[in-house]
Amino acid sequence: MKLAIVSDIHANLAALEAVLEDIEGEKVDKIYCLGDVIGYGPDPRECLELALDFPINLLGNHEEAVLVGAIGFNPKAKAAIDWTRDQLNLESEPIEKNREFWNFLGRLKRSHLEGDFLFVHGSPRDPTREYIFSQDYQDRKKMDDIFACPPGVDWRVCFTGHTHFPGIFSQENPYKFNDPASLSNKFSLRGLANRIIINVGSVGQPRDNDNRASYVILEEADVRFKRIDYDIGRTVDRFKDCPQLPEYLARRLEEGK
Ligand code: ZN
Repeated sequence: MKLAIVSDIHANLAALEAVLEDIEGEKVDKIYCLGDVIGYGPDPRECLELALDFPINLLGNHEEAVLVGAIGFNPKAKAAIDWTRDQLNLESEPIEKNREFWNFLGRLKRSHLEGDFLFVHGSPRDPTREYIFSQDYQDRKKMDDIFACPPGVDWRVCFTGHTHFPGIFSQENPYKFNDPASLSNKFSLRGLANRIIINVGSVGQPRDNDNRASYVILEEADVRFKRIDYDIGRTVDRFKDCPQLPEYLARRLEEGK
């Protein structure tokens, strides 16, 4: 089976379209999305429309915030959540379509287990909200706990997003983190002795100083990290149509951080 794993689209339609075009060329069987289709960006409806076709979509913290309130969000992220909620209730759009989006959000799963592959937005311990930052590999207690969760689930490889930093955490002594560049953008799951957590990066708001969209291809036991150029100017222009969205959210796309 060949899978494309995307995450953190964040209502960036130009980035999503560029990634979907690349995925089309990859001839994958399925696309899995690890959450945060919306939040921050100017095109939530268009991105949700495309995500409706993915066979697996998980709940991200931004979907959760739109559904139940932006608890713990910074003011800029919260402003975008409030604006996004309004966009999904637009009276100028058919009420059935609005309902379809809300039903989609309401049905999102917090995790997906397939064989020994676990898929979450944040971490195995807190699938929706917990961040595993690149430097956390040095925090032995945190890594011990995260790698042991959820209890009784026999996973070997966990795919996450949420931090917008791609890379691989390995359950070794001591724990290790490798960014994609240090792995030449690929990794083999053959003969893995320990668990690993693979962060696929972000389609719509990369933060690792590379402003290209990030996603991952999983083909049998081979993982490939991909970066895709997209028309950032197109998304930045869309922000200008949405004055309620903080301008900083457009600027960070150009900087990739
Ligand atoms: Zn996110």
